[in-house]
Amino acid sequence: MEGIAIRLRDLRKSFGETTAVAGVDLEIRDGEFFSMLGPSGSGKTTVLRMIAGFESPTGGTIELAGQDVTGLAPFERDVHTVFQDYALFPHMTVEQNVAYGLKVRGVPKSERLVRARQALAEVRLEGYGARRPAQLSGGQRQRVALARALVGRPRLLLLDEPLGALDLKLREQMQVELKALQREVGITFVFVTHDQEEALTMSDRIAVFDQGRIQQVGTPAEVYERPATPFVASFVGTSNLLAGEAAERIVGTTGTYSIRPEKIRVLKDTAETGEPDHESAAGTVAEVVYLGDSTRFLVDLDAGGRLTALQQNLETSAEDVAAYRGSRVRLQWHRRHTVHVPDPR
Ligand code: ATP
Repeated sequence: MEGIAIRLRDLRKSFGETTAVAGVDLEIRDGEFFSMLGPSGSGKTTVLRMIAGFESPTGGTIELAGQDVTGLAPFERDVHTVFQDYALFPHMTVEQNVAYGLKVRGVPKSERLVRARQALAEVRLEGYGARRPAQLSGGQRQRVALARALVGRPRLLLLDEPLGALDLKLREQMQVELKALQREVGITFVFVTHDQEEALTMSDRIAVFDQGRIQQVGTPAEVYERPATPFVASFVGTSNLLAGEAAERIVGTTGTYSIRPEKIRVLKDTAETGEPDHESAAGTVAEVVYLGDSTRFLVDLDAGGRLTALQQNLETSAEDVAAYRGSRVRLQWHRRHTVHVPDPR
């Protein structure tokens, strides 16, 4: 069908007794930057490997651009995979590494060179073609792996934690570049990560995995603002989950609720009555953590339970912050930030 790059239907995979993927239905659109996010062991890599053709499913089907490829070998699929360890050939130059796939496909030498150089330019590695992988930094090797993936202009690029080996600064820089590159080349990217911030930064849409199942599919804002399950609320960002009696006392109804720490204001005056349309709860500050740009308050509520509030340090110094420890406060947040979280089916 037009516009759908990948369609998975009831995809399953077991390794002996272990169920890695327990029935996944998913549609990824043409040109999307799509992330599969989840903790270690949640099945996201296995789904990626089945899309690439490196693992055969125990059940279900895989369609790429409307064609059922479930039984096809990896090379029969219009897909390229970038692995975390980059898998570059150490004895070849950068240019030869990038051109290798074209050579295998019988593209003439002069054209190979032109396209390899173009791909290296796309990842901002002009002038590095004659080096060997060992003469590059980790970030540069990562770019070579990307250039090698892009040079054949696959319809679909699968990336398995490609930034996992980089340090934090470089990783953040590559996140922005990778997103820009994807927009520029217009290829569908499917990106596996366990890092929620990375997924929120780069993706058009995210599928959140837990225990071999998809918990939620949505834009970064949807997944963050409207978590579909308690798992999503706690895995994506930091969340205060209110349940049981504490929820009943504060929100007024039973159920599970999520309140993001940055939505909660910490007020010194416990006596003042709340603003309209706001919810509030009095408590004692158990801990304050000064984070430079912001401060995290852990507050034990009179109504039971503990909430975390995150405040920007606009006018506040580290000394001001320390004075809060042990003091009485009132937490206040707008009602619309109390998000009901459905319990898992
Ligand atoms: P990670 O982020 O650690 O890679 P993941 O979410 O990608 O985790 P998978 O690698 O897909 O998770 O693994 C899902 C489950 O399947 C795990 O319990 C894992 O141990 C198991 N598994 C994966 N590959 C194999 C294999 N080849 N043989 C046996 N079990 C496997």
